[in-house]
Amino acid sequence: MSLETLFKYDSKSRNANEFINDDEILKTISEVESGDYNIREILDKASLMKGLEPKEALALLLCNDKDSENEMFEIAKKIKLEIYGKRIVLFAPLYLSNYCINGCVYCPYHAKNSHIARKQLSQDEIRAEVIALQDMGHKRLALETGEDPDYASMEYLLESIKTIYSIKHKNGAIRRVNVNIAATTVENYRKLKDAGIGTYVLFQETYHKPTYEKVHPSGPKSNYEYHTEAMDRAMEGGIDDVGIGVLFGLYDYKYDFTAMLYHAKHLEDTFGCGPHTISVPRIRPADDVDVKSFPNAIVDSLFKKIVAVLRIAVPYTGIIVSTRESQKSREEALEVGVSQISGGSRTSVGGYVEEEEENSKQFEISDNRSLDDIIKWLSDIDYLPSFCTACYREGRTGDRFMAFAKSGQIKNFCQANAIITLKEYENDYAKEETRKSIDKVMANEIERVPNEKVKMKLVDALKGIDEGRRDFKF
Ligand code: SF4
Ligand code: SF4
Repeated sequence: MSLETLFKYDSKSRNANEFINDDEILKTISEVESGDYNIREILDKASLMKGLEPKEALALLLCNDKDSENEMFEIAKKIKLEIYGKRIVLFAPLYLSNYCINGCVYCPYHAKNSHIARKQLSQDEIRAEVIALQDMGHKRLALETGEDPDYASMEYLLESIKTIYSIKHKNGAIRRVNVNIAATTVENYRKLKDAGIGTYVLFQETYHKPTYEKVHPSGPKSNYEYHTEAMDRAMEGGIDDVGIGVLFGLYDYKYDFTAMLYHAKHLEDTFGCGPHTISVPRIRPADDVDVKSFPNAIVDSLFKKIVAVLRIAVPYTGIIVSTRESQKSREEALEVGVSQISGGSRTSVGGYVEEEEENSKQFEISDNRSLDDIIKWLSDIDYLPSFCTACYREGRTGDRFMAFAKSGQIKNFCQANAIITLKEYENDYAKEETRKSIDKVMANEIERVPNEKVKMKLVDALKGIDEGRRDFKF
């Protein structure tokens, strides 16, 4: 008998082995693989845009019937359009320190990698990076650090967040700082909340405990339970926007996909609010990381299907892809569900100011285009790029945000805020050619603001931006 069989599935338990229950996940997979489901009923339920149970979502993911597959892609596109419209929110990662005491075998920052260039940014260096990011047009950052009590302490992080929010360069401002740092205590999460962070992001990497322990052979991150229960502590600490994700390729995708939905269900059942975002990174080549040693790596067609089924299963959770993905793969994922992407990213410490050294990146980027190129590309393929950060600044977080989202009211705000922030980008940062593309998309999208009063205010705000004012928001 495995240790896990001692635990029983309970979505509201605070024990990782119970809300991510190995027996329950294996049972779910086995039932779906033996055909114990009705695809018609699941597709009909999916069309209602109210989400799916983990087993139903897995059944869609494993269904290879071409007609059903096409239907699920159509449903995913419809949900995406209905809830998110054409908007795509943009952000950039900012690496503060790559010192790390963990031994993650898939990451070049692991403690034993002696030939990587290590660096921790000083507050002055952070200032320079942030100004470089502001000069690109970014408003929303995801802070990244390795885990190290000396080179990535909570005090350092809090000071860095303060520095970032304080920088006002020309018309630039970072208005939302999301944080992706190691699992920590309730007290530390409370400090992060008080520092005004947006979303706390922590990837599970893999939910499969034996694999988790194998790929995390040393350091604090090797504690599966402490890591898996991190979002519960974050929520206890008052952070109600949390972002989850797995690193597809570490273990069997069926297991991790199903477990991730059980995690979302746990948060919803326990705290009344599911994850704010789900990220879908895939294993990528990097210094001292041998991709060939990961036989579970997933192909593009499966990646697209995972995104589509997630869109259907958790309609109100944002889906994020990074520049790990190629332009082509991002384009496909955008169509069926992705609502947030990074742009113009550097994945090394100090990479926005200095040329990146080959051996200092956390992973290889597939989409190397500049932010301006990304904005032009999105506009040309009829998306509405957005730098909106309004919700958390207006107190719309957690269950309050979900109530707005589920009632459909959020659409008015999102659409108008997207247009306002794109207009700011156009006036302050866009190249001439990009402006033409933006003008085209904006003319169409103003008409799509559902509420007439909001539309009138929006038109006023756009005039205000032309007159030099900034930071209008709904
Ligand atoms: Fe450190 Fe994070 Fe890399 Fe693991 S994934 S080695 S914790 S930086
Ligand atoms: Fe996101 Fe809120 Fe802005 Fe909509 S209004 S894009 S939900 S921050």
